[in-house]
Amino acid sequence: MTDNVYEKRRQRLYRLLEEHGVAAVLVTSTAGVYYFTGVWLNPGERASAVILQPGHDPVWVVPEMFRHEAAASDVEKRYWNDGGNPYRLMAEVVAKGGALAVDGDWSTRHLLALAAEVGADTLPRSADGVLGALRAVKDEAEIRALEQASQWADQVVARIREFLTPVRTERQAAEELARLWREVGSPEMSFPPIVAAGSRGAAPHHEPDDSQLGRDTTVIVDTGGFYRHYCSDITRTFVLGRATAEMEQVYRVVLAAQQAGIAAAKPGVTLGEVDRAVRQVIQDAGYGPYFTHRTGHGVGLDIHELPYVMADNPQRLEVGMVMSIEPGVYLPNRFGVRIEDLVVIEAGGARSLNRAPKQWEEVVIEV
Ligand code: ZN
Ligand code: ZN
Repeated sequence: MTDNVYEKRRQRLYRLLEEHGVAAVLVTSTAGVYYFTGVWLNPGERASAVILQPGHDPVWVVPEMFRHEAAASDVEKRYWNDGGNPYRLMAEVVAKGGALAVDGDWSTRHLLALAAEVGADTLPRSADGVLGALRAVKDEAEIRALEQASQWADQVVARIREFLTPVRTERQAAEELARLWREVGSPEMSFPPIVAAGSRGAAPHHEPDDSQLGRDTTVIVDTGGFYRHYCSDITRTFVLGRATAEMEQVYRVVLAAQQAGIAAAKPGVTLGEVDRAVRQVIQDAGYGPYFTHRTGHGVGLDIHELPYVMADNPQRLEVGMVMSIEPGVYLPNRFGVRIEDLVVIEAGGARSLNRAPKQWEEVVIEV
């Protein structure tokens, strides 16, 4: 990515800030700083903030010890040393009199110290709404990164399928996922993987344990990695051995619901309408009470970010939004099914970033 990308993002932000009547934003999260500068920096307990103000050049107040990393960005830097007062530096950069906003990722300790410097008449407000709205619409470079991360997810899913046997444990499968992610090129995973077999699959966020996967039941595998800090997130439900008629029926309902969601997701449609399209299929099949979570979430530098595909969300889909569509049915003490893909909203509708097979015949593993 060229620096031009970051400048374009800052210009988009300035327009939004003017609409919202905000004079200055302090961006402090690692992902937020990366989004606007191209530098991935975790400053630990030390204060770091990129200050963005319409009509002013951006300024990054950053610890001196990170001078080398920060130098990769063309944004003007103000360095501070241990024992110095970074909050005073920040207060000096912020233009007097306007509304100041800070992202919600900053620790309260930093926020209170900044508030003491800027004075009570400029108490900061939350920048999360405006930053979230900006980052919800991806630019081309971001979509390319999310596509690559999703292709890796497809490869990992294809290979974990070969690993699953009745005697292997959930924990072994989770460790194999970590290994597969390293092998495709992602040293870290974007979240701890979920492997949930049998009745444990009825808990949507089950943590893998030492139980064997067993036979004649479903196995939910939910996993993701990173490409250039962009997350992937995919779920496939496999069947080890012979499925009951109800397992097959539930699987087909969840798949039809997911496909209804992808078909409904178009520019101008509300996120609530997408959720309703998905939920309707599951309700019509009689499993409504067992679909216990929202339909999906935005994915980007964070694994869960705006926009949220959930009931009554009035926000409208826009070209460039990327989100998961991930309905599930969880039958207590019996089994669970969830199917998840990432989609990008284009002018003609939603395009799936994942291609891992998900037809019923393709997820049954003979044992
Ligand atoms: Zn997931
Ligand atoms: Zn997800």
